[in-house]
Amino acid sequence: MSDEMLPVGLDDPMGFNCAPENPCFNECCRDLNQALTPYDILRMKTALGISSGKFLREYTSLQHGPESGLPVITFKPNPATGHACPLVSEDGCTVYGDRPASCRMYPLARAIARDRETGKIREFFAMIEEDHCEGFDKKHTITVRRWLEGQDVAEHNRQNDKLMELISLKNQIRPGKLEGADSDLFYLALYDLDEFRAQIQTQGLLEDLDIPGSLMEKIGADDYALLDFGIAWVKYMLFGRDFKVDI
Ligand code: SF4
Ligand code: SF4
Repeated sequence: MSDEMLPVGLDDPMGFNCAPENPCFNECCRDLNQALTPYDILRMKTALGISSGKFLREYTSLQHGPESGLPVITFKPNPATGHACPLVSEDGCTVYGDRPASCRMYPLARAIARDRETGKIREFFAMIEEDHCEGFDKKHTITVRRWLEGQDVAEHNRQNDKLMELISLKNQIRPGKLEGADSDLFYLALYDLDEFRAQIQTQGLLEDLDIPGSLMEKIGADDYALLDFGIAWVKYMLFGRDFKVDI
């Protein structure tokens, strides 16, 4: 089987069986090239009980999109382990319940587009058939929809779609490369949430905005609310949108 992507629909059959008994167990957790989203990072740093800064330093690498200038965060490759994910163990994923959306989706990939007339998000899926994966098995056939339900990926997708929408806004308003302080601001507010909170609390980061005390309390205590707040703040600071947050 050569590596290929085949478009599939939600009700198409999917013959796939991933199990620890498969000889390829953990093979999909090496040679990674997946971008981690802010929500992926929030879930994993919470599962590990560490700050966003420690998570980013220990487990990830930061690059910037060559044309967009946007931060791109990936797992830090470790040549000593054959470039395995820093979170994989012999027994499998050490953050399985909080693994990233792309890990949940595999061997599927998902893309979205917003319908211009209805404003609704449309999803598209493709099956990635890679040589290392031996899970393709016609005896274990379920639908794509059932597979996705089993991976508990709906909330990840819902949250990650907010990032896609933000990137689409950026492409519309500032299609060129985001540089220096602007790119740093994007990284701070979306990926390094604990540092973002610290700067709000100690450096008056929001002093130009009239933020109600109840909202300040909420983002002081709730990382998920802080991420939504960060997205609204980036829209305001970088892309000229009114500051509007519904938490
Ligand atoms: S986060 Fe877990 S599932 Fe994803 S690549 Fe790392 S070990 Fe594998
Ligand atoms: S390579 Fe495929 S079958 Fe093997 S563990 Fe990974 S997803 Fe499952």
